[in-house]
Amino acid sequence: MDAEFAIVGGGIVGLSVALGLLDAGRSVVVLDGGAADPKASRGNFGLVWLQGKGVAQPRYARWSKESADLWPAFAAMLQDVSGIDVGLRQTGGLDLHFDEETLAQAVAENECLKAELGSDYPYEVLRPDTLRVEEPEIGPRVVGAILHHGDGDVDPLALLAALSAAVRARGGRVVTGAKVDAIHPKAEGFHLHGDGVDLRAEKLVLAAGLGSAVLGPKLGFVAPLKPERGQLLITEKLPPMIRRPSLIARQDRAGGIQIGATNEDVGMDRRVTLDGMARLAADAVAAYPVLEHAQLLRAWGALRVMAPDGLPIYQESPTHRGAFLVSCHSGVTLAAAHAMRLPAWILQRADAPELEVFGETRFAV
Ligand SMILES: Cc1cc2nc3c(=O)[nH]c(=O)nc-3n(C[C@H](O)[C@H](O)[C@H](O)COP(=O)(O)OP(=O)(O)OC[C@H]3O[C@@H](n4cnc5c(N)ncnc54)[C@H](O)[C@@H]3O)c2cc1C
Repeated sequence: MDAEFAIVGGGIVGLSVALGLLDAGRSVVVLDGGAADPKASRGNFGLVWLQGKGVAQPRYARWSKESADLWPAFAAMLQDVSGIDVGLRQTGGLDLHFDEETLAQAVAENECLKAELGSDYPYEVLRPDTLRVEEPEIGPRVVGAILHHGDGDVDPLALLAALSAAVRARGGRVVTGAKVDAIHPKAEGFHLHGDGVDLRAEKLVLAAGLGSAVLGPKLGFVAPLKPERGQLLITEKLPPMIRRPSLIARQDRAGGIQIGATNEDVGMDRRVTLDGMARLAADAVAAYPVLEHAQLLRAWGALRVMAPDGLPIYQESPTHRGAFLVSCHSGVTLAAAHAMRLPAWILQRADAPELEVFGETRFAV
């Protein structure tokens, strides 16, 4: 055997799980595909975000909260092991509203979550006067906002670099340009093949993002994963002007204002469009009028990895024991739980978190 665990996919999800398994004393090889693959981990908005998550599935609200609570320790551990500061700022995040109706709906959803999570759900509704004290650049078109104190953001590319460096520092192997085409289950484990890939492992974790939709069914998973495009913009470096991230914009450590993101059902198309960019810019200027004169530097599109109900998938293959599918659409938020809690479930330890609602039986017709 080359390793106890092969992790297929070296994005945030695969690397977080790999790090956790290494911490549990397992040997791990991460196989990551080619540059042409869609990579949500390289194009995301970097939010560690709780508000509004899990309205239809309280376990998801609690799992996200668990991860957000673990984030400070996780970021410190990553810095310790990799030497990279991922720039975690967890001093609250804002959901800004331009009309009373959507604000009222968001309040109702957050009330639901608060009832579910009890006092452990620190959010408040900010009306314009208070909001502008908290966030002076917010413009008059914003009628109110939800401020959730557990929300925040990180530098997403630093996170990816830190995870990769930490996995290596902990003794894992990360092989890039290693696209897995075929996985042959054997009596004693799995034999993985592909261009430049020939690896035997006792167990495997399929964490290949949208690539899991191709490989998953061959291993007995449903893996009903679909792309959802998000377009994003970034401005020139500007003086500090946005204190807390919102779902419309966040200011990165270097001063750039990241604006995002669209939600589009356009298949595997990662291009940016004039219409998408114009909508993002218009919303950003409506929320923060000071951005009217900001220079845009770059725009990009990336594909979210979406299950039909938007929830994570954690499933051991019903046909090939020892193969696990791990997928989610909030891989930044859940990175801490994936590294610090999920490995106990994969290793089937007594302290495993309860994750049954995230299994694939929910897709049975
Ligand atoms: C626009 C946008 C904004 C987002 N904003 C946020 C946010 O603010 N907060 C948040 O929590 N989440 C956010 N997300 C979601 C987050 O980025 C994803 O949940 C996360 O990146 C998914 O990581 P992943 O490792 O599953 O997938 P990916 O990053 O797509 O990585 C999958 C990897 O698998 C590899 N691969 C594929 N097929 C194979 C194969 N056959 N063999 C080997 N390797 C293979 C690919 O090369 C790739 O590197 C956002 C996503 C998008 C697109």
